[in-house]
Amino acid sequence: MTDCLFCNIIKGKIPSNLIYEDERVIAFEDINPQAPVHFLVIPKEHIESAAYIDENNKNLMGHILFVVSKIAKSRGLEEGYRIVNNCGINGGQTVEHIHFHVLGERKMLWPPG
Ligand code: C5P
Repeated sequence: MTDCLFCNIIKGKIPSNLIYEDERVIAFEDINPQAPVHFLVIPKEHIESAAYIDENNKNLMGHILFVVSKIAKSRGLEEGYRIVNNCGINGGQTVEHIHFHVLGERKMLWPPG
C-alpha cells in the first residue's frame, strides 16, 4: 500500500515521533494530540480497519492491546487511559490503516462525541 499514510510512516518515508517498535507493530505520538498523552499503536501489516479483522490477523489485535498496556505502564498511566478505535465513516476514521488511539493524563467523558 504505497499511498497509505501509515504504511509510509512504518517505512520511514513520512516522519513520526516513534515511541515503540517490534516485528509486528509500531507506536508513535499522535501529531494532533487530544490529551496530554496521545499515541497511536498500529500494525505493520496494512489492515484497513476493524471491519477487516479476520482469522488471519485476530492474534495481531491481541498483540496490539498487549503493546498498548506495556507502553501505558511505561508512561505512568496508573490512573487509567482510553483506547479508541475509529472504524469507518460513522466511526470517524480518517486514516484507512487500523490504529488504536491511547489517550491519558486527563479525565475522559462519556458518551464520546
Ligand atoms: O481515528 P482517525 O483515523 O481519525 O485518526 C487518525 C489519527 O492520525 C489522528 O488523530 C491524526 O492526528 C493522526 N495522524 C498522525 N500523524 C500523521 C497523520 C495523522 O498522528 N502524519
